[in-house]
Amino acid sequence: MKPLTADRVYRFYRAGDEETLALQGVSFELNPGEVVAVVGPSGSGKSTLFSCLTGLDEPSGGTVWIDGKRLTHQPEAVRARLRADHIGIVSQGNNLFTHLTLSANMRLAQKLSSRPGANIDELLESLGIQKRSHAYPTELSGGEGARAGLAVALANDPSVLIADEPTGELDEATESRILELFHERAEQGKAVLIASHSAAVRRTADRVLTLEDGMLQL
Ligand code: ADP
Ligand code: MG
Repeated sequence: MKPLTADRVYRFYRAGDEETLALQGVSFELNPGEVVAVVGPSGSGKSTLFSCLTGLDEPSGGTVWIDGKRLTHQPEAVRARLRADHIGIVSQGNNLFTHLTLSANMRLAQKLSSRPGANIDELLESLGIQKRSHAYPTELSGGEGARAGLAVALANDPSVLIADEPTGELDEATESRILELFHERAEQGKAVLIASHSAAVRRTADRVLTLEDGMLQL
């Protein structure tokens, strides 16, 4: 079973007479054990694609499956359940609840999931932020915040991690540590999809998908 399948995903935005073809029939699969990078110039549709793949947005056409379950054309409650159980999301900017500490944010993600989650202490340690476990999001530095976002995204031990520029704010050493973590997950049979401009991400990925004008380049 594929962790993720996208079949001819289209997303149009309309405003008056203006139509933006943000995604024009994107099809691909993620295999278990793969780290895949998505590259493409700004405006090529990376964030739109990730919103459709995580069920945060509904495509204008096409279908997305996560772990063999259809995510698209489903009520919000079904999409939320699939997200909580199967997907880890790292969005651009901080996705933590500000009134909860880092570890409380992780426990909340685990509570929402009906599957067993990751070990919180081990996860924080592998990200090098175990000392920040009781910190509130506003108390974290930029680099710590980026790793905290990853820690929360991985708390439910997702079969698919979908990350938009997860290493953008990190120094080289931290970035390579996180890329190692992604590959360790892949070795356990999980899949990782990363949008990134980083040369290190591109170099270490098992596969690179190039998006241009909402289309995957061959
Ligand atoms: P990327 O993440 O690769 O920079 P985006 O997915 O953000 O690209 O954007 C793809 C295209 O869709 C761009 O032309 C952008 O202006 C347009 N777009 C994105 N979101 C919206 C929206 N909510 N409404 C209208 N147009 C949008
Ligand atoms: Mg983007």
